[in-house]
Parts: sequence; structure tokens; C-alpha cells
Amino acid sequence: MAGKLIHIFKEFLDLLFPQKCLGCGISGATLCEKCLASFPPFFAENKPPNLSETDEIFVATSYKDEIVKKAIWLFKYRGVKSLAEPLSSLIVKKLGDKITRLINDTRQTVLIIPIPLARKKFKKRGYNQAEILGKCLSDKLSIKMETNVLYKIKETISQVEIKDRNKRLKNIQGVFAVKNSEIIRNKVIILVDDITTTGATLNEAGRVLKQAGGKKIIGLTVAKG
Ligand SMILES: [Zn+2]
Repeated sequence: MAGKLIHIFKEFLDLLFPQKCLGCGISGATLCEKCLASFPPFFAENKPPNLSETDEIFVATSYKDEIVKKAIWLFKYRGVKSLAEPLSSLIVKKLGDKITRLINDTRQTVLIIPIPLARKKFKKRGYNQAEILGKCLSDKLSIKMETNVLYKIKETISQVEIKDRNKRLKNIQGVFAVKNSEIIRNKVIILVDDITTTGATLNEAGRVLKQAGGKKIIGLTVAKG
């Protein structure tokens, strides 16, 4: 009943504020199929140096694209959670084959773990964009998501504000902790985040997950800055 009411309410809202594609302005979706298909692929320049803890990083598109930039900003800072749907579709479209191959090649269980927010930031923002994205990917790819393993125990200065790569690596050191490590023992973990720049966050999260028994760590993001 509650679900139905929410649905009716949502339809009512859509009537008042029809969704428009933020790429081309067409009605009906926050990001239409055509615009999604036009996003440039991201060509990985392999693993960045010094990122020993993450085995591979999969990236769907480039943050240099203006629509991608706008979409991620709205998704992350302006509460447009519905963008998780097209952004996860984009990941599946661009990287689905790679992920399927990974699942088929491994003899271990594959899990999705979203990069967590520190508690204070989560309260302020009200949601973790990486978790919403992770949930969509979990549903689309039928991979279980675990949110009670990786925790962010220290607040950090936003990595975006730090330009120097070594300082970024230092800023993120020791901010993650693992609980319930038995869940990840010998598992392949897909670490999900909205964006990666130097890979420092994915690497540090990968480090603690490996230390806790994770077998292989794959970073997966919508875009690379
Ligand atoms: Zn469009």
C-alpha cells in the first residue's frame, strides 16, 4: 500500500516537474539513451603507478565530458538520486562484458562494496551516492552488495581540493576500517565509487580489504577525472 502511494506521489511529481534529459533537454528521463550512448569511452592507461593494492580499475567514461561532469555533480551534491539508474546503465553498457569475464574467470565469490562516507558527512548529505550506485549495479549484475564491511572512520579534506598526488595518498591513509572480515575472506571485491582521480581512495580501501583477507580488488567508477 505504502509503495503504491509513493508511486502515485512520484507520478504526480513527474507531472508537475517532468524529467528532462540534462544532456539534450528531451522529456522523460534525467539522462536519455541517446546522450548516454554518446558519452566517450575511457581508455584506461593501465593501473596508475604506486597503486599496488588495487588489482585493476574499471572506468566507464571520462569526467572531461561536460554532461558527465554535470550528472555526477547533481548526483553527488544536489540529491538527484535518480541519476543512479542511467549512470549504472552506462557502467553496464561500457563495462558489462569486462565484469562478466571477471566473474567467469574467478573461482571465488564476487562482492560489491561501495566506498563509504564518514558518519558526519553521511548525516549531512543524507545519502551515500556510491552506495546508491552500488545497489543499482548489484541489481543489474546480480552481484551481492555488502555495506557492513568497509567503514570510513576518519573525516578527510575532500580529495578534490588536494591537487598534489602524494598529498592525496597521504590524506587518505588510515581513514578506512574493516568489520565482519569473515564476509570478504578470499572473495573478489568490486569497489564502487562515482569518480576516481588519482585512484588514491580506491587504493587505500583496497589495502585494508586485502589486509582483512580479500583476495582481489577491482575499482569500478563512472568516470575518471
Ligand atoms: Zn539526452
